[in-house]
Amino acid sequence: MLTDSYHRRINYLRISVTDRCNLRCVYCMPSEGIRLLEHADILSFEEIVRVAAAAVRLGIRRIRITGGEPLVRKGVVSLAGNLVQLPGVEDVSLTTNGLLLADYAAPLRAAGMRRINISLDSLDAEKYRRITRGGDIQRVLEGISEARRQGFAPIKINVVAMRGVNDDELVAFARLTVERPVDIRFIEFMPVGTSTGWERDRFIASSEIRDMISRIGALHPVDDRAVSGPAEMYRFDGAAGRLGFISPLSNHFCDTCNRMRLTADGKLRTCLFSDHETDLKPHVRGGSGDGALEQVIAEAIRTKPKGHDLSEPTFETCRRAMSAIGG
Ligand code: SAM
Ligand code: SF4
Repeated sequence: MLTDSYHRRINYLRISVTDRCNLRCVYCMPSEGIRLLEHADILSFEEIVRVAAAAVRLGIRRIRITGGEPLVRKGVVSLAGNLVQLPGVEDVSLTTNGLLLADYAAPLRAAGMRRINISLDSLDAEKYRRITRGGDIQRVLEGISEARRQGFAPIKINVVAMRGVNDDELVAFARLTVERPVDIRFIEFMPVGTSTGWERDRFIASSEIRDMISRIGALHPVDDRAVSGPAEMYRFDGAAGRLGFISPLSNHFCDTCNRMRLTADGKLRTCLFSDHETDLKPHVRGGSGDGALEQVIAEAIRTKPKGHDLSEPTFETCRRAMSAIGG
């Protein structure tokens, strides 16, 4: 079992396969994009699988492929298949903006993936276009339908809640779970990256969202931490789907954090909000054996910080954009 120095079990790895994206969401990337990594600096799929295999031998059990937008990187389906087949892996999933999902849902399912998260912050086509700076909601909705047709379950929709942007739609999002078998998960807007327009006034705490949607009906807690990670899950009486609240600011979950992140350029980050990273590339490319690679990963885990306090007024945002870290 892989544990850090605070006795937390680390069994979840998020892998960012690219820092590139086909959208420019206002809360994630500046309109001009970010300074992109050089191709030579990005890990090849063989290198990613080698790191993942070492992490799995140490005790990682669940893997999520993310980005940037993971579906813009060619060959991501075969990467998914290779990760699914690593002995010891229990679950491989993907987080996507959904734009290319209609084409990728079938091959990803065939590669052995069963779960998928889709980011969608508005149900209104024009507002969606504004938030994403150009995205076509119709393609995302087609992607979600196709994912359902292919048997992905659960389908989770991630909604970043922002005051003055989509707060007027949170009730409508919650209502979707009554009739449809989807998980809608509200994420508190986080101050990540240096130019993503985070302002305290835009932030909405999960408790406030719960108050807003309580007019639909009583919410019953669903105990599902093992699968839902940091999301607190609820269900309306008799509803087909569920609601989740991810509260990194108002109720941070550092005490139970089980994750580490691999950036597209091969840096292991043990805390989303700490710029402390361990560069695995020299080990992957420099001829270190598998045992040595495992040792470097295990050592990085030992330096995982106890936590962060985003709610402190003195909190300084991390330098990398969310698209470069993988969310
Ligand atoms: N491109 C993919 C997508 O959008 O789903 C995967 C990468 S994206 C960085 C992963 C997740 O991070 C998305 O659900 C996105 O909404 C979330 N995210 C990005 N910036 C955020 C911020 N400042 N606060 C809260 N969530 C954020
Ligand atoms: Fe791209 Fe995802 Fe960031 Fe939006 S949230 S800009 S889709 S990486």
